[in-house]
Amino acid sequence: TFKAIVIDKNEAGQRVEIRAFDEADLMDGDVTVRVSHSTLNYKDGLAITGKAPVVRRFPMIPGVDLVGTVEASSNPEFKPGDAVVLNGWGLGETHLGAYAEKVRVRGEWLIPLPQGLSPLQAMAVGTAGYTAMLCLMALERHGLSPDRGPAIVTGAVGGVGSVAVALLAKAGWHVIASTGRPEEADYLRGLGAAEILDRSEFAGPARPLAKERWAAGIDTVGSTTLANVLSMTKYGGAIAACGLAGGMDLPTTVAPFILRNVALLGVDSVMAPKALRIEAWNRIARELDHDKLAVMTSTIPLDRVLEAGRQIVDGKVKGRVVVDIAR
Ligand code: NAP
Repeated sequence: TFKAIVIDKNEAGQRVEIRAFDEADLMDGDVTVRVSHSTLNYKDGLAITGKAPVVRRFPMIPGVDLVGTVEASSNPEFKPGDAVVLNGWGLGETHLGAYAEKVRVRGEWLIPLPQGLSPLQAMAVGTAGYTAMLCLMALERHGLSPDRGPAIVTGAVGGVGSVAVALLAKAGWHVIASTGRPEEADYLRGLGAAEILDRSEFAGPARPLAKERWAAGIDTVGSTTLANVLSMTKYGGAIAACGLAGGMDLPTTVAPFILRNVALLGVDSVMAPKALRIEAWNRIARELDHDKLAVMTSTIPLDRVLEAGRQIVDGKVKGRVVVDIAR
């Protein structure tokens, strides 16, 4: 057996606990990995609290991200001792996940630990950080560059938001960080934000078009926030949308799209193809400042994950949280 966080469900509801899990009950896969670190994403909070139906089989071990060492492999690409990273692919949703000392997974889901990142740093980045990079890459693929105007980040103190601020600033953008936590202005400036905007500006219904303020954006919030951000996007600009921390709805009009040539770029990390993942991780290893990453990261042991999972869905987690599985 090994130690894991396990979610069970019966008529009475779902129950989450840390308990011993039988290795024989691991799911199919050609690579077994000894997990050293995981991390906490918004989706992990949804799984732990049951606030949204992200878990698709029970019992489930939540945790969508891991870094670890290959213990056994019948996949020719991996051998015992290899350091690997896994983000998404249904881990913690349909496949037994990362809040465990061990996982058994399909080798095609794994990528090598990027050169220049320690296991802890890779999980400080995690799905949140790798998604922030996918968003930046989507904006660049659209042809946008810092000379076109500022870039806005919503949910800036959160995990995706913190990394997005740092990456955009490093790439030369004038970053406007939107947050509901004005007391974290110094934190955001430290990551590279040039301006702080109170998120209450985006709380009400969006006008079809409003004053043009930014050329690009990374939105982690959705709902009226994204609708307002779109209505304030400059002619020819684009917003990369990756999150729903404020809601799944999008009460917008077609006005920004048909009158200002604004684009809404959808970004998914879970099923992203391997080549794109490797490109994103290599860029993170090169472009994300290690000191900034350290400032946005805290580390907790496995037995604090349930509490932290409740906090993240309440919007109370700052930056990134690494889970030290071995501790
Ligand atoms: P997080 O750390 O909790 O960050 C979310 C941030 O959104 C919060 O810190 C808060 O920022 C803001 N926020 C929370 N509730 C809000 C509300 N009701 N109204 C307005 N703003 C609110 O979560 P995360 O791990 O960074 O994930 C952010 C979002 O991205 C989640 O929806 C997650 O599911 C999504 N995501 C998607 C992908 C993908 O593949 N598409 C990958 C990773 C994450 P402030 O305190 O600064 O206002």
